[in-house]
Amino acid sequence: MSTQLTLSVLAVASEVYPLVKTGGLADVVGALPGALASEGIAVRTLLPGYPAVLKALDGAAEVFAFPSLYDGPARLLAARVAGLDLLVLEAPHLYQRPGNPYVDPSGHDWPDNAWRFAALARVGAEVACGRTGAPAADLVHAHDWQTGLLPAYLRYEGGPPSVMTIHNLAFQGQFSADVFPTLGLPDAAWSIDGVEYYGGVGMLKAGIALADAVTTVSPSYAAEIRTPAGGMGLDGLLRARGARLFGILNGIDTGVWNPGTDPHLPEHYTVVRPAAKTAAKAALQARLGLAVDPGALLFGVISRLTWQKGLDLVLTALPTLLGAGAQLALLGTGEHALQAGFAAAAKVHPRQIGCLFGYSEEVAHLIQGGADALLIPSRFEPCGLTQLCALRYGTLPVVARAGGLADTVIDCNEMAVAAGDGTGVMFAPTTQEMLETALLTTFRLWRQPALWQKLRRNAMRTDVSWKRPVARYAALFREVVAGRAA
Ligand code: ADP
Repeated sequence: MSTQLTLSVLAVASEVYPLVKTGGLADVVGALPGALASEGIAVRTLLPGYPAVLKALDGAAEVFAFPSLYDGPARLLAARVAGLDLLVLEAPHLYQRPGNPYVDPSGHDWPDNAWRFAALARVGAEVACGRTGAPAADLVHAHDWQTGLLPAYLRYEGGPPSVMTIHNLAFQGQFSADVFPTLGLPDAAWSIDGVEYYGGVGMLKAGIALADAVTTVSPSYAAEIRTPAGGMGLDGLLRARGARLFGILNGIDTGVWNPGTDPHLPEHYTVVRPAAKTAAKAALQARLGLAVDPGALLFGVISRLTWQKGLDLVLTALPTLLGAGAQLALLGTGEHALQAGFAAAAKVHPRQIGCLFGYSEEVAHLIQGGADALLIPSRFEPCGLTQLCALRYGTLPVVARAGGLADTVIDCNEMAVAAGDGTGVMFAPTTQEMLETALLTTFRLWRQPALWQKLRRNAMRTDVSWKRPVARYAALFREVVAGRAA
C-alpha cells in the first residue's frame, strides 16, 4: 500500500463491466478502481441507470433527487456492486430502454443521445463539485465521448481537475449546433477552444480541449492520433495538447483471465504445465462443430464485426487459411454483411470454420483457451484487449501493427526468435496480402513444435496485468492534482 495521501477520484463512464458492456471500455472502467486502490486512490464510478444496471443494484440508497433533468425526474443512487463503489443516475426517461445503450432496436442512434449523455456529464459535475450530498472529488476521470462535456462543465465552473481518456477516437459524440443552448454552458464555450466543432457540438472534442490531461490507451495510438491519417479530424487539437496527451496501456483482470483457474475450460493449464491446453482445443472444436483434430492449426477470432477490426480481410484470406488445413473459430457480432460472409463460408466448410454470432463470455474464454492463435487484423486498434488475454492463455496473437497491438505483441521475426524472444506474429500494412503472409508465417512456426512451445511460454510469461499501467495512472492523477494546487 502506498504511503501517499489518498486521492478521491470520480470516474464517469457509460459502461462498466460486469454491469453493462459493449466493448473494452467497460473492462477498463470496471478494472481500474480495484487496481488503483493499491496505489492509494479511491475511485467512485458514476454511470447511467440502464435496466441492467438498476437490476444489479441491491440496497441502493438515494443520495440526491433532481426534480427535472432534461424533462424528467432523476435520482442519484449509491451502491456497492461487484467490488465497485457506484453512483447510478436513475433517469427512466433517458436510460430505461432495452438493449444496447446507444442505439434503438433498429440500430439507429437514439435521437436524444445528446441529452442522455449531457445529463450524465452534468450530474458528474454536480457530484465532483460536492453539490449532491455525495463526497466531492479531488479529480474526475472522464471516459470517452459520453462524458466529454464533463471537463467543460468543470473548467467553466471552477470544479476539480479532470483527465479525459480516449478509448476509441472513432466515436466522437457530434451533434448539431442547436443542442448547444440546452447544455447550460456559458456563451464562451461556443468557440474553437470550447465545445464547438465544425459548426456543431463535439463532446469528445470538448473533453480533449478542456481536460487537464488527456490519455489514450496505448503509446502507439497516442502517436497515431496526432497524425492526419489517424486523427479522425481531431489531430490538430491533439497535436496542440502536445505534452498533455499520454498513452497508457490497458491491462486485463488476470483473475478473470487465468487458464489456471478458468471455470469455462474443461481442464486447467499453466505455463509450466501447458498440456491441458489440448483439452480446451478439443472442447472448442466440438463446441463449434469443427473436426476434433489436435494437429490442425486452430485460429480464433473474438471481435466486433466491423470495418475497424479488418475481418473482411479474413474472409478474403480464407482460401489461404483453409488451403493450409487450418481451422477458424469465430465469435462476434456486428455488420450483417460480414456475418453473412462467415456464415456462408462455415456452411461450405463446416469442419474447418465454426462461428457463433452473438455475445458469449463462455465461448470467449473457450476460444482463448482452445485456439492455437488469435487473429486480430485491425485497421486501427487503440489498445485491444483480446491479444492481452491471448498472451495469457498461450494463444499466439497474429496482429496488425497498429496502436496497442504494436505495443503489446513481440513479432517473431528472425532476430527475435534467435534471441529467444517473440510472442506473436505482426504484419503491416493491414491488407489481404500481408495478412496471408502472416498466416503462412504462423504455419511455419506451428510446424516447429519445440519453437511453438517456446513462443507459447514467452506469451504466457508476458505481464498483461494492470500493475504497470495503474502506476502510470496514479502518477498522472497525482501530478494533475498537484499542478492545480500549485
Ligand atoms: P473493442 O473495445 O474495440 O471492441 P477490445 O479488444 O478493446 O475491442 O475489447 C473487446 C472486449 O470485448 C474483450 O474483452 C473481448 O473479449 C470482448 N468481446 C468482443 N466480442 C465479444 C463477443 N462476441 N462475446 C464475448 N466477448 C466479446
